[in-house]
Amino acid sequence: MPKEATIRTIVITGGGAGIGRASAHYFLERNWRVCVLDKDEDALAEMRQAHARSELLCLGCDVGREDDVGEAFAQIADWLGDGPLDCLVNNAGIADPYCGPLEDLHLGDWQRWIDASLTAAFLCSRSAIPLLRRADRTSIVNISSTRAIMSEENTFAYSAAKGGLDGLTHAMAVSLGPQIRVNAVLPGWIETGPWQKEADRTDGAHRPVDRDQHPAGRVGRPEDIAQTIEFCIESGFVTGQQIVVDGGMTRKMIYAG
Ligand code: NAD
Repeated sequence: MPKEATIRTIVITGGGAGIGRASAHYFLERNWRVCVLDKDEDALAEMRQAHARSELLCLGCDVGREDDVGEAFAQIADWLGDGPLDCLVNNAGIADPYCGPLEDLHLGDWQRWIDASLTAAFLCSRSAIPLLRRADRTSIVNISSTRAIMSEENTFAYSAAKGGLDGLTHAMAVSLGPQIRVNAVLPGWIETGPWQKEADRTDGAHRPVDRDQHPAGRVGRPEDIAQTIEFCIESGFVTGQQIVVDGGMTRKMIYAG
């Protein structure tokens, strides 16, 4: 008799909108059980309605807060039963990088960017490790940004958070392997308009100059990132890496005039 395929499980932080929401959809379509953590209750309510299925668990959680993460992972452990968690995607972040001039940046605002991305990845990874260790070949995927390796003006906290996330990625990779592989995906410009909650949804029209900046001929789609997350999960020999997914944008030189 053919062996029944095991259903795999994935937790995606910031899964209520954008890249996280599209990724949740991508893995649900491939018959994974998906858990989404997000602090936007309206977005989660929409997702629950769209996928009234036991394969999707939506939990309200500010992933930058230790108590919230502890409570969410207790519920995730119940949801998993004795089974393993196959992948954690640390995707939550404040996607708008602009924080204004450094001399005007308040500590509380700096901390918001750091907590949503870097602190959250630490807290969620720490809670996920015992669940990931229940299987032989599991992984953590951190959604970083090309802003970890290049900057526009006045984006200090965002770039620092993403640079920190890349450091956390290789530190975890060398410490948690061989059982758990850890990689960072660095998206470039990803058009998330069509994957926002209904009230915020947009088409995402692009100018020729936007497309021309990308050797691949277009800006990115959230599905491009979901596919790269899948690659990170399936590839047994890739760990501790920064994988840039930007249509070649960061490889193209810009000359003024
Ligand atoms: P988005 O704003 O569309 O979605 C982010 C989701 O994360 C939202 O649902 C939001 O509620 C949630 N979130 C934010 N802070 C949270 C917190 N503390 N706790 C729980 N949930 C929280 O963003 P996106 O564009 O899909 O970005 C997703 C990730 O990809 C982010 O880490 C972002 O930095 C990164 N990224 C995005 C782009 C891009 O062009 N969209 C480019 C590079 C990197």
